[in-house]
Amino acid sequence: MALKRRYGKSVGDIIKIKSDFFEKNEDMLRLSAHQADALLMQPKRTQCKICHGPIGEAAGQEVLYESQRMRYFQCPVCGHVNAEYEDNEDFASRVYISDNYLANYSEEDRQKYDTRRDTIYIPKAWFLLEALEQDGMRKNDIKLLDDGAGSGYFVSAIRQLGVEQADGIEISEPQVQFANTMNGDDILTQVDAPDIASIIETAKVNVITFIGVLEHITNLDDILEAVKKNKNVKYIYFSVPMFSMSCVFEAAHQHCYNRHAGGTHTHLFTDSSIAYMARRIGFEEYATWKFGSDMMDLYRMICVSLDQNGNTGLREKFSEKFLPMIDELQEVVDRHEEASEIHMILKRKS
Ligand SMILES: [Zn+2]
Repeated sequence: MALKRRYGKSVGDIIKIKSDFFEKNEDMLRLSAHQADALLMQPKRTQCKICHGPIGEAAGQEVLYESQRMRYFQCPVCGHVNAEYEDNEDFASRVYISDNYLANYSEEDRQKYDTRRDTIYIPKAWFLLEALEQDGMRKNDIKLLDDGAGSGYFVSAIRQLGVEQADGIEISEPQVQFANTMNGDDILTQVDAPDIASIIETAKVNVITFIGVLEHITNLDDILEAVKKNKNVKYIYFSVPMFSMSCVFEAAHQHCYNRHAGGTHTHLFTDSSIAYMARRIGFEEYATWKFGSDMMDLYRMICVSLDQNGNTGLREKFSEKFLPMIDELQEVVDRHEEASEIHMILKRKS
């Protein structure tokens, strides 16, 4: 049973950080179309990503919805929402292209790094720390491994909050170098994808984190199995994209960038598919924080559409009126369990 469920979070600062989504709609849409091309050339999925039940048209299922040329099917067993095509190794090799990172970083880069960490990742880290503390685990007892650590924002944040034994692993060497330079310390280690399952299985840590990662893992079964086998691991902290209001807004606005479904997100979680996944590896929900970007997505789509049809003046007036309401509106969505993202801490069943 869940210790607690928490809802809502202010999006004010995040709008500034994600301004690219507003200003570069056409570029982002093109990138997403390129990623959809890569998925459409793969074999059709025959099994649900989470429970392996038969999925798709061949299994006699109806299409749940279609957006940006991709059809989605909902698994009748676990409720997971799967794109029609398989996110296999070939797909991953086509869409996960390492960004170019500069060799030298300015003071401005460091400030940007810190702002992003403080705005987006410190709240995520606090949520974990508070929940673990309530369960009797002190900061000094935490040994944490962050898988898919990216630029190290989460590891950096949790260290800022006083957890000393926190490290990350990441496939991309440039990202590891960037993270370690920004932090002035080797907080991340570069690893190769085929080694990750065995690293997780043997890690001497009690907390494993996957922040925005599980949805991108092609061999998700191997990773989950590795966590299950590593009995040192008592808690898993993850965030994943959900089948949510954002999916509907995207399906209704095909000329606006689809941040949520499509692109590198080839399947979407539901409360029931998360519960199924947790059960399968011997864990249960301990604490949950739901806050989505659904209203920000809707806001962005309306702004982009108004600009596209020559209503820039109205868009400005709309922004003035709508932005002060956005947190409250999103909180309603969150409380109705329709948020685009979930943050959850799972605890190993004793
Ligand atoms: Zn399923």
